[in-house]
Amino acid sequence: MSDRSVDVAIIGAGPAGLMLAHLLRREGLSTVTVDSRGEEEIHRTHRAGILEHASVEMLAHEDLGSRVLSEGHRHDGIDLRFDGESHRVDFRELVGESVWLYPQNEVFHDLASAAHHHTMDVRYEVSEAHPLDIDSENPGIRFVESDGSSRVVRARYVVGADGSRSVCRNAIPEHRRTHSSTTYPFAWFGILATAAPSAPELIYARSPRGFALISQRSADVQRMYFQCDPDTDPDAWSDEDIWNELQKRIDGPDHLELKTGPIFEKTVLKFRSFVCDPMRYERLVLAGDAAHTVPPTGAKGLNLALADVRVLAPALASAVRGNSALLDEYSSTALSRVWKAQNFSYWMTGMLHQDPEESTFASARHRGELRSVVDSVHGQAFLAEQYTGWPDIPTTSG
Ligand SMILES: Cc1cc2nc3c(=O)[nH]c(=O)nc-3n(C[C@H](O)[C@H](O)[C@H](O)COP(=O)(O)OP(=O)(O)OC[C@H]3O[C@@H](n4cnc5c(N)ncnc54)[C@H](O)[C@@H]3O)c2cc1C
Repeated sequence: MSDRSVDVAIIGAGPAGLMLAHLLRREGLSTVTVDSRGEEEIHRTHRAGILEHASVEMLAHEDLGSRVLSEGHRHDGIDLRFDGESHRVDFRELVGESVWLYPQNEVFHDLASAAHHHTMDVRYEVSEAHPLDIDSENPGIRFVESDGSSRVVRARYVVGADGSRSVCRNAIPEHRRTHSSTTYPFAWFGILATAAPSAPELIYARSPRGFALISQRSADVQRMYFQCDPDTDPDAWSDEDIWNELQKRIDGPDHLELKTGPIFEKTVLKFRSFVCDPMRYERLVLAGDAAHTVPPTGAKGLNLALADVRVLAPALASAVRGNSALLDEYSSTALSRVWKAQNFSYWMTGMLHQDPEESTFASARHRGELRSVVDSVHGQAFLAEQYTGWPDIPTTSG
């Protein structure tokens, strides 16, 4: 017995799930979206911060009421720093594009507030959510509400937007999916601190002590990371040790000095590159981290999640109306971008990080690699084009 019937049932109310629900609303489709976490908890979770221009355009749509253009910060470039010197890569001059600094938790807040405004069916704090009967004409999802009551919602299609530990992905029979992945011998130590910005744009630094990223959040909150061992205990590091380590990784002849302040969040972020192919099985479709994850160095994870649903929404709308040609192309269209992003994220990670076992040859080669980017307008343009994002691929059935 089912409690409701909708066009599309979505598991996961992260950026992929919520944005998809909004795009489908605009197409006139009914949806239900469920998430195991509470709205406040998701809003408090700090993750990505850099939006490609195409992601900004999606968020800036008038019916979302997003603050991305009023409170986000346009960044026209980044600094690549090595041997203690910064080299600016000017995106606007090189490829005519920019990115925006606008934190993922604010993206979520905007999407969740707009879902309330449009009285969309989004249910938080559910448990045991999983897809049902995905190889039938009448699939759905089952979950338990926060008050303990069990629910079944029937749908024409089910979308797994449930993040990197996706239960939806595991609902695809093993022999019908391929997993490709690689791991890295390091992690990121991330901090949030109350401090003034140390630089107007992001600084990606390679040093003999390892990678560091100097990023921002607002006028008085800063986000920074440094490469660490994956088994690092964040609580074993004092604020003073963290600031010293970050400063050492950016030290150089230009005497760039970090602006410090109290650290109020410390986390160790492990990462890997992962792709599930295909991203669709019968009536179940995957989007975002449920299908692929990238190391954060290229700032692609959130942007890929939004790019997926940009392709998926018109495909689902058309399939619900009886034409599944676009949906049949969804996986290959989305994966084409995903593999470009995998390549870029892997390349940036390798170029900027110090492998604990790195030979003198490998270190010198990485510096040569950095020089071949910063010393050449074509090298810089390659980085700028990848970082700011690729145009959408036209579909053959569109
Ligand atoms: C600590 C951290 C830092 C990051 N930093 C960056 C960065 O700097 N730049 C960048 O581009 N990317 C970064 N990422 C990656 C980026 O945050 C993700 O790529 C992005 O969140 C993907 O969006 P999504 O909607 O696919 O998945 P998610 O944001 O993970 O959303 C999935 C949702 O599904 C819910 N869910 C999961 N399982 C279930 C279930 N069984 N039932 C119901 N609900 C479920 C979760 O609660 C979650 O709300 C970071 C990720 C992490 C973890």
